[in-house]
Amino acid sequence: MRAPDLRRLADIHELRPAFLSAYLDLSRGVDQSFVRKRSKEIGNALAGRREELAVFEEAFARLERMLEDEVPSDGGLAVFIGPAANLFETYRLPGQPEMRLVFDSSPYIKPLVALHHEFEEYIVVVLDRSHARIFLVAHYEILDEDEVCEEIVRHHRHGGMSQMRFQRLHAGYVDRFFKEVAEHLVREVERCKCQGRLRGIVLAGPKDAKTAFEKYMPADLRKLLVGKVDEPADVPAGTVVRAAHPIVREHERAAEGEMIERLRGEILRGGLAAYGFDQVREAVASGRADVLIVQAGFSLPGWRCEHCRNFGTGSPQRCPACRKEPVFVDAVEELVELALDMGTQVEFQPADCGIAELGGVGALLRY
Ligand SMILES: [Zn+2]
Repeated sequence: MRAPDLRRLADIHELRPAFLSAYLDLSRGVDQSFVRKRSKEIGNALAGRREELAVFEEAFARLERMLEDEVPSDGGLAVFIGPAANLFETYRLPGQPEMRLVFDSSPYIKPLVALHHEFEEYIVVVLDRSHARIFLVAHYEILDEDEVCEEIVRHHRHGGMSQMRFQRLHAGYVDRFFKEVAEHLVREVERCKCQGRLRGIVLAGPKDAKTAFEKYMPADLRKLLVGKVDEPADVPAGTVVRAAHPIVREHERAAEGEMIERLRGEILRGGLAAYGFDQVREAVASGRADVLIVQAGFSLPGWRCEHCRNFGTGSPQRCPACRKEPVFVDAVEELVELALDMGTQVEFQPADCGIAELGGVGALLRY
């Protein structure tokens, strides 16, 4: 599955509403009544704005044509259509996204950003002492598979070989084999890291083989180890990926919990943290924000000035900076787009983790 280039999507803007963004839950097929209802609402809101209405109708017709064709029958779909910018992109989504149809001056990407970990890659190594498979996985899909085999002397057929000599020989083969697997793993990790999105490594296989192999992993690779699964070495790839996925997720959740604790600690100390929309917006805009933490599903009524790219909460008549007329938008979407633009890491957290009490958004600061 193709991972979205979020920074590029965040950077697409027109001066007027020109992009149709759709998030569709396909678990029960295409919900035509939702699509038609939202289309009617958007059409009504654009009454009297002939050019924008024409763009919307063109984009909507394109969406309808797409939905008439083959669409996946499970999970979700995100679609971005901008006829003028020649934009037409679709992404499969895991689970069931909240249904949305948005027409705005930029693609509406906040729900997609919230799912970004799902598109990132992780590595599953399945091995025993003679055979290893290295899977590169994203979004339950195996993107790449590497296999390492070593012929092992299983029986000492030559009468002259003592049991002890056989064991020494065998240990030597295993040692060489594990070293080779570790080299393959290092190469795979380096390739992933170049693209900057490795979630971790899961080791699978019979118990003793995993423990023995761990010692062959360089220290920096061991740091990436997020869990182990006991499986027979010949486990089908699909089974081991399904077993590994929740382990990767659980590890991420723990790391995110630590991030919230760090935010809370920094706030209590009056340290490197910001919270509440205005403070966080300032921190992101000035490049001081290292990580932006957003409450999942959180939005704030706000405005954006397409002339000077200023934005904020509330509904002013004029942009405070350039006095042009603003458009009304979700201020949190704007904050997320700005953060992506500034290279700030963006993480979404459930409301009950404490982020709601901090005003729905927080930031860990670099300085
Ligand atoms: Zn302005």
